[in-house]
Amino acid sequence: MREREALFENTGRDDIILPFQIDPYGLRGRVVRLGSVIDGILGRHAYPEAVSVMLGETAALAACLAGSLKYEGVFTLQTKGDGPIGVLMADVTTAGAVRAYATFDADRVAQLDPADVAARSVPRLLGGGYIAFTVDQGANTDRYQGIVELSGRTLSECTHAYFQQSEQLDAGVLIAAGRRDDGWRAGGIMVQRLPYSRDLPGRPSEDEYDDLWRTAVTLMSSARAQELLAADLAPDQLLYRLFHQEGVRAYEAQPMTDSCRCSRERVERVLLSLNQDEIEDMKVDGALIVNCEFCKREWRYDDEALEALRKSAASPGF
Ligand SMILES: [Zn+2]
Repeated sequence: MREREALFENTGRDDIILPFQIDPYGLRGRVVRLGSVIDGILGRHAYPEAVSVMLGETAALAACLAGSLKYEGVFTLQTKGDGPIGVLMADVTTAGAVRAYATFDADRVAQLDPADVAARSVPRLLGGGYIAFTVDQGANTDRYQGIVELSGRTLSECTHAYFQQSEQLDAGVLIAAGRRDDGWRAGGIMVQRLPYSRDLPGRPSEDEYDDLWRTAVTLMSSARAQELLAADLAPDQLLYRLFHQEGVRAYEAQPMTDSCRCSRERVERVLLSLNQDEIEDMKVDGALIVNCEFCKREWRYDDEALEALRKSAASPGF
């Protein structure tokens, strides 16, 4: 991580994760700013407004939390509830590729009170259920999953319930999503408490460290949704606004991209694992159509294509 001494170098930049450090004791944090990336994802799905705002927040939250990955991998955030919105799903790779989708009941979403949508109300929009946080860092590492009930008023509050029970992460987070003149935007900020040790920068006492931690969370929580989303307030300007009295340094920003990991090879691997009856059951009008829920790409296999696939798999060298 290369350090940036000067603030304001990221002015006007969207679609980034900007890591930062709050002095004097080196608290870590991240700002997430999504512009065309989230606009692309939400525009492609064309969900109702209530679903889009919640999925935008889910993507921003996943991007905030993905920064805690230690190795190459994927961070997945998923909610499942019995409310009008059934599933919110977003995942982010270490390289910054983000994708997301939702499932919902159109009738129930249409009947939502606009005030509940404006409040991003988890009880009204998602209902009762759970939120799961999954870290997958490849075949040779343990897959880690944390699950908590949807117990807060907002997704940020639900995430704090997870932090409270987690031994992996002690943090505060704030997220926002909304439509602006130039499209959908989403953003977030997270401050992370490292375990106390005498060797922290500035060598604070435990009380001094706790004081800075509480101050940082209070300052972070004072950020308004407008500040998290505004295209004309760069992420490092936001950091300066919030933490300049303590001292804050931004590091090199990581770009985020709107890209999906689905591929023809993956689809065909799944198809080849199915038996003939399963294939027949999935056919519609004589063809098998596979859709990627995340990016909406579609693969179509008629009988001829399925036969060719079977032959190519059976031949050596494939
Ligand atoms: Zn896809």
